Formats: sequence, C-alpha cells, structure tokens
Amino acid sequence: MISSDVDCIGLKDPVPLLYCNRYHGLSSNDTSYNYGDSLSEFLRDNGVENYSYYVNASSPLIIRKCPFDPYVHHGDDNGKIMKNCRDNGYYHESRDGACYLCRLEGKGGCEHYGFETFINPHSTNETGRVSACGSDHVIFSDDTYPGVEVIYNSEDGMNEILYLDPHGHKVKYGMSDF
Ligand SMILES: [Zn+2]
Ligand SMILES: [Zn+2]
Repeated sequence: MISSDVDCIGLKDPVPLLYCNRYHGLSSNDTSYNYGDSLSEFLRDNGVENYSYYVNASSPLIIRKCPFDPYVHHGDDNGKIMKNCRDNGYYHESRDGACYLCRLEGKGGCEHYGFETFINPHSTNETGRVSACGSDHVIFSDDTYPGVEVIYNSEDGMNEILYLDPHGHKVKYGMSDF
C-alpha cells in the first residue's frame, strides 16, 4: 500500500519509542502509546512553546490504513469521521511523513513517500490553545511548527482535540471549519 517496498500494515510504529524512551512516563498497551510526561519533556527540550499541552497525550501503536479516503472528508458529520479515525488510530498517506523503513531507523520524516498519524492530546475543557502541530512527522522533527486547537468531539464539557496548522493539515483533512 503506502510503502512500495514493505507491507507495514499491522506492524508496530517504532518512532514514538525511539524518540521518547529516554524520558519518563512512556508506556503502551495493545493499540496505543501513552506518553505520560515523556512527550512534553521531549518537546520542551526542542524549544516548543506550550509543550505541557502534550502531557498524557497518546498516539497509535499499530500502523493501520485510514479508510476515510479522500481525507478531506474527515470533517464530515460534525467531526464524527475524525473521531472514528482517531479512536481507531489510523495512518494516512503523506509526502512529508516517514516511510516504514526510515521509521525503523528512527526518522520522523524522510524523502520517500510515507505516512502520518496524529498525536492526540489529552482531552481538555480549555479552548483556543496553540501548541506544536500534532502530525507525527512535525512532532518528531527538528523543526516543529504551530497548530491551533481543533475540537472534533465534545462530551460532558470535555473536548477531544488535535493541534493542526491552519493552512496545511486542517485543509488536508477537511477541518477548516472547526
Ligand atoms: Zn483518518
Ligand atoms: Zn523513507
């Protein structure tokens, strides 16, 4: 599928482990990484403002292809498509994201056609925040850039959010109105 040289579907994504295991708090279950303080500490070391918004964030462990293609429909149905995508921990084709072989070498991005997933911040009742854009090839890179808070689901006063750059990932995934 995504990577022409290796079928990586169903394999574990090693990138979060390679970047965060020297920090405290990283754990995983059958389906996802839970960062504890590790990702926010990593982001602080990289000079990211508002790094603390990624305390207790999570992201997928197993590489699974997102079925919601074209991706611009992720905002459909009031964000329910994006919620389904994030609840299942799907990955998306991406020119900027790293391919599987480069992920094995600990690279967050590479020159090959690859894929991306999102880092899910812990749900919050705060709104209007800005932190590092939550695409994994942005988070695990030397040049993060900002993302604005995108609320794709709200329950009991708590918002499930992503931080996405307004003119890149928000557009790609059809979240411009969120
Ligand atoms: Zn998706
Ligand atoms: Zn590559």
